[in-house]
Amino acid sequence: MGLHELPARQARGGRRTARPAHRARARLRAAGCPVTLRNRVSVAAAAGVLIVVAAVSTALYLFYAASLRSRVDATLVDAAQQAAGIARSLKQSGGRGSGTVPDISTPVTVGSVQVQLIPGPVTPGQPNRFGPLDGHDVAVAGQAQPAYFADEHHDGQQFRVYTVAWADNPGGLVRTSRPANADDGALRDAALLLAGLTVAAACLTYGAARLTAGRILRPIGELTEAAEHVTKTRDLTSRLGFPQANDEVGRLASSFDTMLAALHESLTAQRQLTADASHELRTPLTSLTTNLDLLEDGAGLADPQAPALVRAAREQAAELDQLITDLLDLARYRESPPHRETVRLDLLTEEAVRRLRQREPHPAIDSELHPCLVHADPAGLDRAITNLIGNAVKWTPEGDTVRVVVENGQVSVTDQGPGIPDTDLPRIFERFYRAPAARGTPGAGLGLAIVGGVARANDGTVTVRTGPGGSTFTLAFPPLPETD
Ligand code: ADP
Repeated sequence: MGLHELPARQARGGRRTARPAHRARARLRAAGCPVTLRNRVSVAAAAGVLIVVAAVSTALYLFYAASLRSRVDATLVDAAQQAAGIARSLKQSGGRGSGTVPDISTPVTVGSVQVQLIPGPVTPGQPNRFGPLDGHDVAVAGQAQPAYFADEHHDGQQFRVYTVAWADNPGGLVRTSRPANADDGALRDAALLLAGLTVAAACLTYGAARLTAGRILRPIGELTEAAEHVTKTRDLTSRLGFPQANDEVGRLASSFDTMLAALHESLTAQRQLTADASHELRTPLTSLTTNLDLLEDGAGLADPQAPALVRAAREQAAELDQLITDLLDLARYRESPPHRETVRLDLLTEEAVRRLRQREPHPAIDSELHPCLVHADPAGLDRAITNLIGNAVKWTPEGDTVRVVVENGQVSVTDQGPGIPDTDLPRIFERFYRAPAARGTPGAGLGLAIVGGVARANDGTVTVRTGPGGSTFTLAFPPLPETD
């Protein structure tokens, strides 16, 4: 129930804060366009190319427009340089023998350019087809100012106009002009061509990107399908089995397989633990139930056997309690990342020894504790040391001594017990393993499994040396430098 509620809440929150990109994707989905990675990659590539080609096309267009304009300007200059020839032919054709200069109201057309000859001396305010001449024109005519280009308006049309001093007529001007829209057609063609090229480049890129992305992203699609299959079937034994590849997709696939294997292992271990734990819990529970049945079937608490039955039931309840504590500790210290801190190993061991001496006065516990620091989970460490000393006490005959030594990040616990047979030695750290010799002694075979778990979880090790004269268990951690 809770599992289903959380995504629903997230979805509601997501709708409230939906960003434009999310809304756009939702619209695409609603319109039947799947928002696949392949589509997104293709659209991104096409958009990138569109931006770049559009920028290049705009630059080309501006460059072309500027070069057209400078070509026009060059044509105007060329035409102005033909002023002498034009004047001559005007004289021959119009003012034959009179020696007069052409009229300013009659510009002569040379190619696409109109040439006006304005005899000197020109004066400010003198009328002209592009408006009255001004002081600047007079200065140009007197060669006090250089020739100049201007954009002028005349008869509802835009003109490019070049004004220069008339070399053969001191104080006069030559004006050449050309309609500014003469090149509009060429510019429009260029703009259309470039726009077409831009759109074509974007479309081609989109197509190519879709093809390429489809090939590159195919493994991701297969990976997604495999992950969905695992989610649907809950089958942790399935593997993607991708051919080994060193790229990101290959690494992702192999990490996915490793993760599945780890999950499978963990799940199997959990199932095994549950099965083992149920089995172990059932034994004291059966005894407890039997004792309670006996009490019920007999004369109840008035039965002379009753105190013994109640005592036995209480012991079985205590055994159950210990078993549950051990199971919880086993899960806590093995599975979860430990809370680690700098710990004085000698002081922690001293406290464990003190507690055990109080609980079990025999055999004697002899300790040699040198100050040293380790980086570990104090609760786990305490549990592991207590288990080792507890086992040593259990296996050492009365009158003998258990020896505990702490130095250089190590705790060694030596007993004078019977030692551990070679057949049992490889299995003593397995959970619920108890040597045949241990049957009849208290315990459920979890003590050393907890010690092993604590060692692993804290980057430590646990080793055992054993022989007929006794055993030495050593729990070792990387020691930290002593601090004052
Ligand atoms: P338990 O003590 O509950 O049996 P442990 O996990 O602590 O469980 O120990 C597992 C087995 O290892 C014991 O059953 C016992 O056979 C053996 N063992 C552990 N410590 C000693 C020891 N100090 N001397 C001899 N055998 C030991």
